[in-house]
Amino acid sequence: MTQSIRFEFSPLPQSTEPLRIRVRDFLARELDAGTFAAGLGPGINRHSPEFSRRCGEEGFIGMTWPRRYGGGERSFLERYVVTEELLAAGAPVWAHWVADRQSGPMLMRYGREEVRNAILPRIVTGECYFCIGMSEPDSGSDLYSAKSRAEPVARGWRVNGRKIWTSNAHRSHYMLALLRTSPSTPDNRRHGLTQFLIAMDSPGIEVRPIRNLTGDSDFNEVVFDDVFVPEAHLIGEVDGAWKQAASELAYERSGPERFLETVFVLYELARAAGETPEDRMAEGLGRLVAELSTLRNMSVAVAGMLEAGKVPDVEAAVVKEQGTNWEQALPARARDLAPGACADPGNRVDFEEVLRYATLIAPKLTIQGGTREILRGIVARGLGLR
Ligand SMILES: Cc1cc2nc3c(=O)[nH]c(=O)nc-3n(C[C@H](O)[C@H](O)[C@H](O)COP(=O)(O)OP(=O)(O)OC[C@H]3O[C@@H](n4cnc5c(N)ncnc54)[C@H](O)[C@@H]3O)c2cc1C
Repeated sequence: MTQSIRFEFSPLPQSTEPLRIRVRDFLARELDAGTFAAGLGPGINRHSPEFSRRCGEEGFIGMTWPRRYGGGERSFLERYVVTEELLAAGAPVWAHWVADRQSGPMLMRYGREEVRNAILPRIVTGECYFCIGMSEPDSGSDLYSAKSRAEPVARGWRVNGRKIWTSNAHRSHYMLALLRTSPSTPDNRRHGLTQFLIAMDSPGIEVRPIRNLTGDSDFNEVVFDDVFVPEAHLIGEVDGAWKQAASELAYERSGPERFLETVFVLYELARAAGETPEDRMAEGLGRLVAELSTLRNMSVAVAGMLEAGKVPDVEAAVVKEQGTNWEQALPARARDLAPGACADPGNRVDFEEVLRYATLIAPKLTIQGGTREILRGIVARGLGLR
């Protein structure tokens, strides 16, 4: 179906400002308490159960969810303000991030009431973490070729197979997994996959760490060997997960994390530039900030569209594609603008170390959450070009 790409731009309402100030005050207290150090790396990769619990106490998790599940019944735009402040500060949000961003909303939309009641309030208090079980060794971009399977058994399902690149599987309580329940059909190759909620402490699950370029192992291979999943943990329609995936991916792709993962480089660059930067630096910094500001406007627009009940999956793909290109290029652009900054004795942190770390994480940015080529394909389809 042909559709146009339409970002419905609207500034964040003034009414969100008190909330922004409250988040900044909270972060200032956390910085003072030494919970995290500013400017040393992306908070999204930092896992702190204590910090997540305090976010829960502040009402910063499950903000848009109904009160009966512990949520705040606030708007997507208010949530946006909170998430961008947390990320911009480099706060250690990773423990609760996936559950808050996408798994909780999926349970709310497609989960059974008993499951919602049992799990959503624990997510809101920052004590229940999720991982995403989509990719497999031979099924990444083409999710609909997934082979890990769930077969019906008495009172539930039996799961066998393996998932890969599963971020934080070793620290999560649950996985939302995409599993094969039937073969695809000749007229619909997306048919036959179903989503399940899997408790990560179930017998038969093995989580094997995979080391990344920085030496950390925050993603994993997850092997399922006759894992029992109760009937109530079926999420949505049997064989019809493809109808559910678009909204999950819109939540996943459009948030400020899609351009703020290496933003700490920009802060250090601006600091190195000082109050009176030379022309080349001023022009380069201005360009970077103008691009960042445009990305932010686009991302806020998607939040507004989610608020209005739309499924802006094509717009979300544009934000992710453009955002990750920007943040991927940032370390090299910063090095080019400030070749002397590494030796600057006024550096708050080791600028070379900041660039090194950002350079090492940059390659993954255009892969995680959908590769560049896949996102461009979604955009092309949205424009009716393929
Ligand atoms: C840091 C990180 C964290 C991740 N976390 C998770 C997670 O928590 N859960 C999870 O399920 N997955 C996760 N992933 C996996 C990620 O979603 C996949 O790596 C991604 O979807 C690509 O799949 P693939 O690696 O199998 O590559 P492939 O799909 O094999 O792609 C290889 C190359 O071919 C290109 N390509 C593939 N198909 C097409 C096409 N139709 N047209 C044009 N080009 C194409 C791709 O763009 C890519 O360049 C993570 C990945 C990373 C890097």
